[in-house]
Amino acid sequence: MSTQDVRQLLVEKGISASRPRMAILNYMLTHYNHPTADDIFRDLRTEVSSLSLTTVYNTLKLFAEKGICLSLTINEKQVHFDGHTHPHSHFLCNKCGKVYDLPQPEIHLDASMLEGHNVTNVHCYYKGICSECMKKSN
Ligand SMILES: [Zn+2]
Ligand SMILES: [Zn+2]
Repeated sequence: MSTQDVRQLLVEKGISASRPRMAILNYMLTHYNHPTADDIFRDLRTEVSSLSLTTVYNTLKLFAEKGICLSLTINEKQVHFDGHTHPHSHFLCNKCGKVYDLPQPEIHLDASMLEGHNVTNVHCYYKGICSECMKKSN
């Protein structure tokens, strides 16, 4: 994605395209490993000299509100962010802390089971030991 495309995506969502926002969005669209605000700040701080951790965090919150990225609360210790916004599930490894993508299972609740609530999104979180960590412990 070009700088122009990144700018266009922000403008389409009604977000003014500042340099930090463009850098963070570009990062989210090139790093699909569910980074935290700390990860992004660490990787971008030399490239964007005016960047602060607060700016990174507030920008990610704004992106999540606008549907540009997902904010994942799978890990109670830190929030992970995801540039993939299509419906999918997540797996957290309790050992290495990595967050993996998994397909979204088909869960269907009849209207009668929803007690009048209007569901707008569904998050499925799985936790355990990832295949990499399983290999290492064998
Ligand atoms: Zn692991
Ligand atoms: Zn994901």
